Amino acid sequence: MDPERLDEVLPQWQCRQCGYEGCRPYAEALAHGETTPDRCRPGGLPIFLALAERLDLDPEAFTPPVPDPPKRAHIDPGRCIGCARCLPACPVDAILGARHYLHEVLFSECTGCGLCIAPCPTDCIRLVDDPTSPGCVSTGRPGPMPDPGLDPVRYQAAWLKYRYERHRSRFGQKTSPQPDPESPSREDLLAEIRVMVEENRARQVARRQALGRASKP
Ligand code: SF4
Ligand code: SF4
Ligand code: SF4
Repeated sequence: MDPERLDEVLPQWQCRQCGYEGCRPYAEALAHGETTPDRCRPGGLPIFLALAERLDLDPEAFTPPVPDPPKRAHIDPGRCIGCARCLPACPVDAILGARHYLHEVLFSECTGCGLCIAPCPTDCIRLVDDPTSPGCVSTGRPGPMPDPGLDPVRYQAAWLKYRYERHRSRFGQKTSPQPDPESPSREDLLAEIRVMVEENRARQVARRQALGRASKP
């Protein structure tokens, strides 16, 4: 079985709920008979049935996966310190931000996968219920489009795959939510946060002084 024929029916969230690094690795494991078609929770019953059919497996032999209620990520603006650690963690680039600035979730792109939560050192990201989350089908998207002749679910998946490929070219392989042995300890993180707070304070003082000088006759 060509893994492409399995990958093309997957939702392309790249969320790793199947236990693999993304949709394509899951498709490859399926194609090699190393796993079962019931592991993609976001895909739910329709994707499970499509996989079983393509693999010529009896769906009665498995328990179909049940998707979680639709959610999206929300960032508490009062607690975001602009460390940018959530950016590489989001497989579909649904977070907008730059170092030292408040970050924000692009609701139209967020699948609610939750991969951004673990890397955030201030625990300011949470998932909120959102019935419009994918399976949501967005329209009017900017940029190069997948074939708009696709049915809405496949269109959404093709769009997420496009965003994932773009994310990988931006961040390389640095998307793992798993603890990275080279990642800084909590103490290092807190030290970094203190430095950022001090830098921010210094910038504000300098700005106030500059404003004061400018207002003097
Ligand atoms: S969408 Fe499904 S196949 Fe893709 S990574 Fe998530 S659980 Fe795995
Ligand atoms: S913002 Fe967070 S929850 Fe939303 S898609 Fe990105 S990693 Fe997943
Ligand atoms: S990881 Fe958390 S604190 Fe850092 S930029 Fe993202 S939301 Fe803000």
